[in-house]
Amino acid sequence: MKILVTGGAGFLGSHLCKRLLDENNEVLCVDNFFTGRRQNIADLLGDSNFQVIEEDITAPMEINGLDRIYNLACPASPPAYQKDPVFTWRTSVLGMNNILELSRKNGNIPVLQASTSEVYGDPLEHPQKESYWGNVNPCGIRSCYDEGKRAAETICMDFFRKYQTPIRLIRIFNTYGPNMDPNDGRVVSSFIVEALTNREITIYGDGTQTRSFQYVSDLIEGMTLMMENKDGFIGPVNIGNPDEFTMKELARVVLEMIPESTSKTAFRPIPGDDPKVRRPNISLAEKSLGWKPKVALREGLAKTIEYFRGQVL
Ligand code: NAD
Ligand code: UDP
Repeated sequence: MKILVTGGAGFLGSHLCKRLLDENNEVLCVDNFFTGRRQNIADLLGDSNFQVIEEDITAPMEINGLDRIYNLACPASPPAYQKDPVFTWRTSVLGMNNILELSRKNGNIPVLQASTSEVYGDPLEHPQKESYWGNVNPCGIRSCYDEGKRAAETICMDFFRKYQTPIRLIRIFNTYGPNMDPNDGRVVSSFIVEALTNREITIYGDGTQTRSFQYVSDLIEGMTLMMENKDGFIGPVNIGNPDEFTMKELARVVLEMIPESTSKTAFRPIPGDDPKVRRPNISLAEKSLGWKPKVALREGLAKTIEYFRGQVL
């Protein structure tokens, strides 16, 4: 198949491009390199089935002969998406419309949208099921991302209702692994890089807030299963690992796994609207896709620490 991956030079997109090339597809990576890195796709450039197109999805695209579109373009780390909030919601809103129009120009091909657990905001239901509508501040510093992604889901559903576009909505929970940008400010990469370089491990707030961390290979498996499901299942479906940790626990595990580190933990003020808890209910993914995560936190962290040793030491 000829498959378009937007955001293909980012953390998740680079893993997805590799997986699709390994399955002998032709892969077009559209990226504007806002947060993406050329080094993430350097190994793929020699593959004659791989092409990089430097474009911004907020502008309409003309690409023919496509069979599938994975829409991953959007900065995902809070400091990155807050750097230019107007760009962030434009990417989710205008970009989503352009992607769905591109699907129609190619004969209404399947579009997988990388949505997020952030659509649940600071959740009042725990763990989060897909039926939960969420608790999102429309005016806060996270809104450009959260509300942008919520609007993108709406736009997908409306194309499905009006044009029967075969959409696939997945709500991704915090994912980590090799190819994360060491400086993008997300918690797993930050804690590991701080520990490896013997700097303070900065925990925001009192560190009792929770997240549920998924290793990247589990996500890519769930994502491709969702795209290729034969039941016309459109979602939304949670794709995440239900093992839940406080940020204090995560810091402790990272320090245990990097025993040579002299880093100490330090507490810093928590940014606005930071969700207090997050954990997916994955019954729907288990039932509809036969999917559940396989990689436990320590196993995934070991591979991620190995990657960052090569990046920062
Ligand atoms: P990332 O920042 O590493 O990758 C995003 C990629 O999109 C980058 O290569 C960036 O340059 C590109 N991009 C951004 N805006 C663009 C635009 N307007 N036009 C073209 N390219 C653009 O982030 P990631 O972690 O790989 O996330 C990928 C997708 O998955 C995002 O849509 C994100 O919202 C979603 N997601 C990720 C997580 C996670 O934990 N990693 C969780 C939930 C959802
Ligand atoms: N966090 C932290 N130290 C950091 C980066 C993040 O304590 O250096 C906290 C952050 O406040 C949040 C959690 O870790 O409660 C996850 O943050 P991340 O930015 O990785 O993802 P998100 O908040 O989008 O889930």
